[in-house]
Amino acid sequence: MNGLTFPTYRGRMEYVCLGCGKRYPIDELLYTCPDCGGVFLLENIDFDALEKHDGAYWRELFDARAASRSTALRGIFRYYELMAPVLEEQDIVYLGEGLTPVVEAAPALRESVGMSFAYKNDGQNPSASFKDRGMACAFSYLKALTRKHGWDEVLTVCASTGDTSAAAALYASYVGAPLKSVVLLPHGKVTPQQLSQPLGSGATVLELPGVFDDCMKVVELLAEQYRVALLNSKNSWRILGQESYAYETAQWYGWNVGNLCLFVPIGNAGNITAIMSGMLKLHRLGVIDRLPRVFGVQSEHADPVYRYYAADPASRRWEPVKVRPSVAQAAMIGNPVSFPRVARLVERYTEVRGADAFQVVEVTEQQIMDAMIRANRHGHIACTQGGECLAGLLRAVELGLVNGKEHAVLDATAHSLKFAGFQDMYFSDTFPPEYGVAPDPALANRPELLLEPSVRAAQDDAAYTKTAAEVIVKRLGLKKKQ
Ligand SMILES: *Cc1c(COP(=O)(O)O)cnc(C)c1O
Ligand SMILES: [Zn+2]
Repeated sequence: MNGLTFPTYRGRMEYVCLGCGKRYPIDELLYTCPDCGGVFLLENIDFDALEKHDGAYWRELFDARAASRSTALRGIFRYYELMAPVLEEQDIVYLGEGLTPVVEAAPALRESVGMSFAYKNDGQNPSASFKDRGMACAFSYLKALTRKHGWDEVLTVCASTGDTSAAAALYASYVGAPLKSVVLLPHGKVTPQQLSQPLGSGATVLELPGVFDDCMKVVELLAEQYRVALLNSKNSWRILGQESYAYETAQWYGWNVGNLCLFVPIGNAGNITAIMSGMLKLHRLGVIDRLPRVFGVQSEHADPVYRYYAADPASRRWEPVKVRPSVAQAAMIGNPVSFPRVARLVERYTEVRGADAFQVVEVTEQQIMDAMIRANRHGHIACTQGGECLAGLLRAVELGLVNGKEHAVLDATAHSLKFAGFQDMYFSDTFPPEYGVAPDPALANRPELLLEPSVRAAQDDAAYTKTAAEVIVKRLGLKKKQ
């Protein structure tokens, strides 16, 4: 075993249709089953060969790789054998994604929540969301494919609630020709920060009126009939890359995850799919001996997965919902592409760990905003979806779904700065009524202008420093040094 050099093991991967079970080779970029329209998961049919080693071998190997200086092994491909072990070292794209910090909840916050928990800050990825994990894998595969076929132009397209396009545009601009990035956004439904990202990366940014679900249908139609590479959640290479979140979390906790409760916001349901899939792989190899529990969180303004699992198992029926405006905008999806993947994985997951291994909790818009503000006033950097996770934990505590001996890990899926506009609306009490958010006035935080501009104009530098200091002393009630 050598953790420092690029692995020699190669697997054989296939797309497996979750609708009809048919298998397809990976020498083409497929999104949905040509036969039945089902979504795929990627499977390594030589996974058995990995089982020849015991859990201790893998734990040691992955730990040893932490010291590797090879860029190909520094990010999500630290777990190469579990990820996409068909790629060559030269194909791997690394922009510093993955290995994001797990930050324990600030003591005062932990006390007030009544349970120990941590945030895993996936907003510290290069484009400031977890989407980079999936893109690193999808673009590595695209690079391999382009090299093999000698293609001279590949248009990558995606519809996005903001972060997918930011990540896709970033990776496309880094790889460069023959890859070119086009992103399709619902007009007015992504934050200014998210919009600035693909623009800054030089992508072609197209907007349409409507919501994300509308844009999704358009890119799907394009991908069906034209030569483009689709980078939405239907792209199962992205799901693979996102599994790295599970591997990192397990590694961070010393591969002891049996008492963890992972809280994950659900939008298109790709992230929660990947986390369950990743944990199941670790379990199969004996790297972990018990699965962590997984809690999906949805806003009542976009809650199809919650509704499905809240229903009595006998009468469960999958039904997309019409979304209402949500501060958890990146998860504002009424017809999640990956729902069939979730359904499949939940079955396996609960088979292994028991009925309480997977649940979905629902929270209000108000609870999401309150939780985000509360977390960030304790030194965290949660986006609205990260706030949604904390709201979900509070709800789970309230419902008695978690116990004091467990430890929760909340996915802060993006950086708080991407969603600064919602914080502004909270502080200035300017939420449009359809969100249904009334801020706590005690939390309103605004800059205070201390002097009129005319004062600055009227004084020289020395006088101005003195005047300004005096106003501050008065404002803060500062006492002179003895
Ligand atoms: C995409 C996204 C989500 C939703 O993840 P899914 O995989 O679509 O369920 C949540 N939070 C952020 C910040 C996102 O970008
Ligand atoms: Zn099929």
